[in-house]
Amino acid sequence: MRLDRFLSETTDLTRSLAKKALHRGDVTVNGEVIKQSAHQVSGGDRILWEGQPLELVGLRYVMLNKPGGVECSSRRGLYPLVGDLIELPRAERLRTVGRLDVDTTGMVLLTDDGQWSHRVTSPRKRCGKVYRVTLGETLEGDALREAMARFHEGLALAGEEKLTMPADLTMRSPTEAELTLYEGKYHQVKRMFAAIGNAVVALHRESIGPLVLGDLAEGQWRELSDDEVAMF
Ligand code: URA
Repeated sequence: MRLDRFLSETTDLTRSLAKKALHRGDVTVNGEVIKQSAHQVSGGDRILWEGQPLELVGLRYVMLNKPGGVECSSRRGLYPLVGDLIELPRAERLRTVGRLDVDTTGMVLLTDDGQWSHRVTSPRKRCGKVYRVTLGETLEGDALREAMARFHEGLALAGEEKLTMPADLTMRSPTEAELTLYEGKYHQVKRMFAAIGNAVVALHRESIGPLVLGDLAEGQWRELSDDEVAMF
């Protein structure tokens, strides 16, 4: 790997700031000051930046139980960001695998592995995401049967031509639904219930594919095991 890339992956420096640090002579490789950005480094090299040893962290895979009022974004806006909750080096570089709305709670996956993220989110992989949905109006009897059929056949969301993919709806109580989606359109759950004349008053994602939150408390996170990563 080029030395400027190594620096930008192991510090908060951008690639251009890394080049400047190199030109200033802030970096040593195996005890020797190296100023060339293109200098190649590998695992066995001892690399110091301003005297501090640097180490590459491998790809990271994290599960978070997102509380409400926290944003799935890497751009700072009105709300705290999911990355603020993750106590890992350079957590701000982790990207969420799909997004939850700021008021939605539950499972969010974060990673710096773009290919893995694609495997989890691609509708072709048919990775089910299970949502617990609290509704504004009761849903039962004929209205429920019709909703189940429309969700299963796919429905047209406002402003979209393509129908939603088949989704599975069951009820836990007349106002508590469980909806499994195999894709992730913008505000999809809220828009699907709006399309059948109901409203979502609370939304919680319980699982993604084979991964469940288990006893992970709201606001808590953990790294996935190798076996869990390999499930996708
Ligand atoms: N669908 C929504 O409407 N909101 C979410 O946060 C996730 C799915």
